[in-house]
This record gives sequence, structure tokens and C-alpha cells, in this order.
Amino acid sequence: MRLHFLPALLLVAVMAGTAFAGSQGPGISPDQALQRLKEGNARFVAETPTERNLSAKRLATSQNGQTPYAIILSCADSRAPVELIFDEGVGDLFVIRVAGNVAATDEVGTAEYGADHLNVPLMVVMGHTQCGAVTAVVQGAEVHGSIPMLVAPIVPAVTAVEKSNPKHDRAALVPKVIEANVWQAIDDTMRQSPIIRARVAAGKLKVVGAIYHIDDGKVEWLGEHPMQARLLNYTSGPAKVRR
Ligand SMILES: [Zn+2]
Repeated sequence: MRLHFLPALLLVAVMAGTAFAGSQGPGISPDQALQRLKEGNARFVAETPTERNLSAKRLATSQNGQTPYAIILSCADSRAPVELIFDEGVGDLFVIRVAGNVAATDEVGTAEYGADHLNVPLMVVMGHTQCGAVTAVVQGAEVHGSIPMLVAPIVPAVTAVEKSNPKHDRAALVPKVIEANVWQAIDDTMRQSPIIRARVAAGKLKVVGAIYHIDDGKVEWLGEHPMQARLLNYTSGPAKVRR
């Protein structure tokens, strides 16, 4: 098959409802989804996880499709295993993991798939304490390979925090930048995605920030972006160049 036929074929597949057929979603509201995450994290912290039949769930989702109830954009750090943190299993969470929980083209496109095609009612951008990616940018560490491009979206968060905290030493800035970077990723998502903005404006999707504390296992909930109304007024779309 020649490559240039692919877009047309994909379009036909979408129109025929085959390749990216929309799901009915999990059938719960954004707030109910958020509550379910909170309860799951409470079980994780209390070390009282749900007993699961993962084989049965795997079989069911392979036959009936997936209906995850939350999109989680989080860091790749091995100390922040998302399904475990929320005591969930197969088919429950639509997880996007990338160092520094940044929202560039691939992450935003993945979130759009979850929101628009799977009808997921909640998106959480979750940073975590002691984040190595954030720390590297704050400290101006020398990084190589593709890492400078990867962490570039964190830079505006560092700049903003430096501006409002001119006398802090670098180490003291890290926790503030971890939070600012969560807001930055929500801002980047909204700026690049008319799809996400429309779903938030219509009340079909809620986007909230969170910070996972790797020492005690608790998720700190930050709520919606403090300037969400302004973000919803963006008129921009996807980045012209994949980044
Ligand atoms: Zn991290």
C-alpha cells in the first residue's frame, strides 16, 4: 500500500465507524470519576487493595472494548505506577506516561483520543514529588540526546517560578516548579486542542491537576486550572510541527 493513500483510508474508516469507532464511555460524570480515583488512592494508601480477577477483566475488555473512566497524564518515574496508585486494573485508566508529564503533540493527541473517541469524562495531569525531569531543568543540568527537546515544555514553568521567587535557592524552587509544571501541561493541552476545549466547555470533560507524593503514596488534588476560563478562550490548534 502506498503511504499517501493512508490518510484517505483512515478517513473512510472513521466515517464507517470502524477504525476509531467512538465508545459510549464509562457512563459516569466527571465528578464521579474523580471520586472513584480518590477512593482508589485511599485504598492504596491504607494498603487495602481490591481483590481482582485480572484474567476475567482482560477477557471482558478484549470482547467488549475498553471504557476507561479517567485519562491520566503522568511522569514515567517508576515510583509513580498509576494503576497501583489508584487501585485499578485492566481497562480502567487511559494512562499517558512521559518524563516530566509534559503535554506535547503525542501526549495531547493521545488525550484527545481518550476524550473524543472513548468518551472519558476526566483528565488528570499528575506531577510527583522529587521529579527528576523537573529537577534537571531547574538546576540547568546538562542533558543530551533527545532529552533537551523532551523537557523543553518544562522551561516556561521554571521561568515563571523564578520570576515570582527571585531569592529562593535552586533546590527550594523544585516543589514550586513541580506544581507550576502541572499547570503548564494543562495550559499546553488546552492551547493545542480545540477538541479538549470544546469538551470542557460542554461539561463533558473535566481537567484537573494533581501531585503524587512518593513518600506516603497520597495524591494531592489541585482542582481545575485557576485560569481555566482564559484557557478555554484559546483559538489555537495543534502545533504545526510535531514536538
Ligand atoms: Zn518525574
